[in-house]
Amino acid sequence: MAAAAATPGFEHMGLDGRLLRAVAELGWAAPTAIQAEAIPLALEGRDILARARTGSGKTGAYGLPLLQHLLRVKAAPSAVPQAVRALVLVPSKELGQQVVRSLRQLATFCARDVRVADLCAHADLAAQRPVLMEKPDVVVGTPGRVLAHVGARSLSLRHSLELLVLDEADLLLNFGCGQDIRALLCHLPKIYQALLLSATFSPDVEALKELVLHNPVTLCPPEPRLPGPSQLRQFGVRCGTEEEKFLLLCALLKLGVLRGRALLFVGTTPRCYRLKLFLEQFGVPACALNSELPARSRCHIITQFNRGVYDYIVATDEEAPAAPPEHPPRKKQRKGVAPSKDRGKGKDKDKGKDKDSEYGVARGIDFQNVAVVINFDVPPTVESYIHRVGRTARADNPGTALTFALPEEEEGMARIEDALAGENGESMLQPYKFRMEEIEGLRYRCRDAMRSVTKQAVKEARLREIKDELLNSEKLKAYFEDNPRDLHVLRHDKPLHPAIVKPHLRNVPDYLVPPSLRGVAKPDRKKRRRVLNTGAKRRRGATSRGSGNPLQSFKYARHRAKRPAAPPS
Ligand code: AMP
Repeated sequence: MAAAAATPGFEHMGLDGRLLRAVAELGWAAPTAIQAEAIPLALEGRDILARARTGSGKTGAYGLPLLQHLLRVKAAPSAVPQAVRALVLVPSKELGQQVVRSLRQLATFCARDVRVADLCAHADLAAQRPVLMEKPDVVVGTPGRVLAHVGARSLSLRHSLELLVLDEADLLLNFGCGQDIRALLCHLPKIYQALLLSATFSPDVEALKELVLHNPVTLCPPEPRLPGPSQLRQFGVRCGTEEEKFLLLCALLKLGVLRGRALLFVGTTPRCYRLKLFLEQFGVPACALNSELPARSRCHIITQFNRGVYDYIVATDEEAPAAPPEHPPRKKQRKGVAPSKDRGKGKDKDKGKDKDSEYGVARGIDFQNVAVVINFDVPPTVESYIHRVGRTARADNPGTALTFALPEEEEGMARIEDALAGENGESMLQPYKFRMEEIEGLRYRCRDAMRSVTKQAVKEARLREIKDELLNSEKLKAYFEDNPRDLHVLRHDKPLHPAIVKPHLRNVPDYLVPPSLRGVAKPDRKKRRRVLNTGAKRRRGATSRGSGNPLQSFKYARHRAKRPAAPPS
């Protein structure tokens, strides 16, 4: 990911020594392509429109010049009044929190000079007001939240704003923030520097550029939207039935074929809990991440994952309701193929209900040290595939992406393969072949586990999460203090048992390990609880695990005899 050797290093960009120290501490040896292009121009004061994919280092590309600008202003001989000078607009709370974390990391050694306010922390407006009263140097928030503060007169930007950043601009528009951005522009001064970063350049982004940027430089560093095959291995896994998907996942995880931390993406929220409960049956702890959860819980889950508390997250990447469908709805179910109860988005009866319009798991969020992304369900769009798979192989780390596809998902799979095909039309997704009969021994266990995860169990798992949220809610604290009976009732409500865990499923006896995996597979190795670090240490850890693809040891060919025999004519 680092830029070509000829481009100047961070130390030649005229950055403040404190920022260079932070960069070194983070282990950033050289600027990424977008950083190499954007930082010098932004330091000259130019407006910039940059195409930058997630994981390309774009936060540093605007964060470093932003901090440098503030340090320069503060170092002026005549004292300048404290004021909000920079505003970073983000599409989702998760992304906002990540941006705040990155900016604070970059400002570690100048934290007394530069204060970054987080309007994505999930306090209500009144709770955030005191922070804004202190006039932090940088404010990070969603357009809606920033506008609400401006409307409430707790934030004034008209006389102080010097730098505006629109991060993930395409997503800002997809999330329906266009109106809020327009309204906000009326409260900004006439002159300020603006940086607009977007993964894609759509006509809407072009229109936003006209509105926000003045004589901008356009940057499109020649980077593919996903890393190349030497860094990111992509596999397509054809599964004959829904049960095969579960069976294969179970084999990959329980036989230790799949090593490292993984993100598992599914199509709907009920399916998210179904897979989580299924994994729990095998003693594999995973957490569910979906738009039903309150934003605070979601951020907490991401933080826990990044700290190494969990190794697996089962996530949905439903987009906000405002997101236009990229493709027409899929064709009708093919005859003879049993639809999964909860797989398709269209099957999610709860779609849109209680969903947070600022939810954006797959997009832009920096899940750290993700070795593997598994699309347990084929992503609904090519964009969604890119954003999901982009969670692995971040910075210079290697990664693997597996996409499980049923026959009825073939169309979506073909669309993704076509869109990502190389210049010679070759698919970037290698076929991942496996012989089902090798893992046949696990089938009974898998069926047993699938049976235990009933619809009722899924419903109760969702209820349990909501109950936990109510009990832990800061907002309800005062209510429960006044109404202790309600708290008592909630605490002693019928205990919820989402699914009965059968202890024998936890262990895989040796006789179930396929002969070709004996000596390779590490079933039930004791989990090491890792507390991960950032920066150089993290990258060392990643390479020490081996950059080779762990799945190469599991190259089987599907056994043809297992296919249903053609009916006699
Ligand atoms: P971003 O695209 O800003 O979300 O950054 C993605 C990841 O790349 C983050 O974990 C950053 O810490 C990391 N990163 C950013 N810039 C560099 C760099 N120059 N060298 C190595 N890693 C970087």
